Amino acid sequence: MTFDFTSCQFCDTHQSPDKLALIGSSGELSWGDLHNKTNQLVSAIQELKLPKGYPIFIYGHKEVEFPVAILACFITNHPFVPIDRLYPKERIAEIQSETNSSVFVDCSRNFQNSSATVLTFWDQEIVTQPGEITKSIVPVFEHNPLAYLLFTSGSTGKPKGVMIRKSSVLDLVNWIHSDAFGMNSQEVFVNQSPFSFDVSLFDTFSALSYGATMLMVSQDLAKDTELFKTQLVQYKASFWTSTPSFVYLYLREQWFQSGALPSLKTFLFAGEPLPVATCKSLYTQFEHSTVFNAYGPTEATVITTLLTVDKTSLDASSSLPIGRCKPHSEMITLAPGSKEHPQELVIVGENVAEGYLNRPEQTADRFFVHEGKKSYKTGDLGFVEEGMIYCQGRNDNQIKLNGYRIELDEINEKILSMEGINEARTIGLKRNDKVVRIVSLVQSGKVINVTELKEVLSQQLPHYMVPSDYVQVADFPKNPSGKIDRNGLQEFYLTQKKAQKK
Ligand code: AMP
Repeated sequence: MTFDFTSCQFCDTHQSPDKLALIGSSGELSWGDLHNKTNQLVSAIQELKLPKGYPIFIYGHKEVEFPVAILACFITNHPFVPIDRLYPKERIAEIQSETNSSVFVDCSRNFQNSSATVLTFWDQEIVTQPGEITKSIVPVFEHNPLAYLLFTSGSTGKPKGVMIRKSSVLDLVNWIHSDAFGMNSQEVFVNQSPFSFDVSLFDTFSALSYGATMLMVSQDLAKDTELFKTQLVQYKASFWTSTPSFVYLYLREQWFQSGALPSLKTFLFAGEPLPVATCKSLYTQFEHSTVFNAYGPTEATVITTLLTVDKTSLDASSSLPIGRCKPHSEMITLAPGSKEHPQELVIVGENVAEGYLNRPEQTADRFFVHEGKKSYKTGDLGFVEEGMIYCQGRNDNQIKLNGYRIELDEINEKILSMEGINEARTIGLKRNDKVVRIVSLVQSGKVINVTELKEVLSQQLPHYMVPSDYVQVADFPKNPSGKIDRNGLQEFYLTQKKAQKK
């Protein structure tokens, strides 16, 4: 069996319905089970008689029910909004209020919200907790509906919803089915990224459309190295997708090599720059594997470019390009760029999102039409040389920490909204050009209570956005025009810390 994203139907390809489809924190599902559960959820959603295009939140982590809910939303034409169970309540409430919607599918059986309509998977049944169905403010696109809304960090202090249409998902699925990735239906995908991060959709769409198998890695499983190894061996994991930061956690494990994991043949990395050293280690530990470097912002449907990393050229390179653009899209710079004078990279094509939900200004700032096609200014700086694309950093305050996309201004806005704080700057501390920690510099008329500050932020932001250190300062370094000198802040922070220690 496979799931055909074009017709939105399960197709029988003479494969046994007993074949494993999903392995997750809540158990295993065969393709037959997946089909039945999806149908059950489709019926439960239809019974709610929701308005057309009404978004549905999917709440959970790495339960097998999560992909079931994705499929049910796809079939019923309701955009899904993934919400990771590990998010703090306030973050979830913020995302909910951005859409003004109130229907949840609870995959984890512990979602608490007394006013919402909640569909919960209980063993063989789906139980509906009736609740309000508020008037959604998500636009409805009749002919080409939204597939999903994914919330990313927003520089104005609130998460912003990226609107992805179904046609963009189909465009991605078509690429996935080209020869570029060398996949087949026997693949066992390792799905690690949280569903609130779109890299996770790459394996999900791949596994479902190929009729393959997906091993989902919860945060707990990732920490339990022995069990994780056992599952990789037991289920014969073959196709690994993650951020480079995630694989780095295992590179030093003795068992992380082809002798112990003979089925693991392909590694695809996305979400942040792929270090040359990581590729070298992988090619040493998995000699006959293929390593891909994929690049793409959420705003352009999961990934846009792909590079098959050539192991013979690794010794000569200090950094890797991000590869070539997918078919039917283009990646350009509006002015000629070079290594010395990089320009903003722009993505043009059907994979580009419809914009940000209810953010006309930010949408107008980033999205535009180029030669009649949807286009998105990425904020990434780089250049294109004979179709090969190079990415060399950003033109704004967005950073990546362990693959998580973070707008430093969002954290800063939260700090500034606290009583008694006059000024603040949040920075990503870099080591060897890679952000390793987030810290905040805070100016206040009274002595700040760091524990309290951290506590308040932890209630509002995902754990990876909470700064690990806070330093109270009397003033900030300024540049000649009198503005706070952003580029000097790391040095300033380190000097302040040194002074504090004395
Ligand atoms: P996200 O929307 O979370 O997928 O983050 C997208 C951003 O991550 C891009 O705009 C880049 O800044 C960065 N990024 C993603 N993949 C890569 C890559 N392979 N190499 C360099 N930067 C990347």
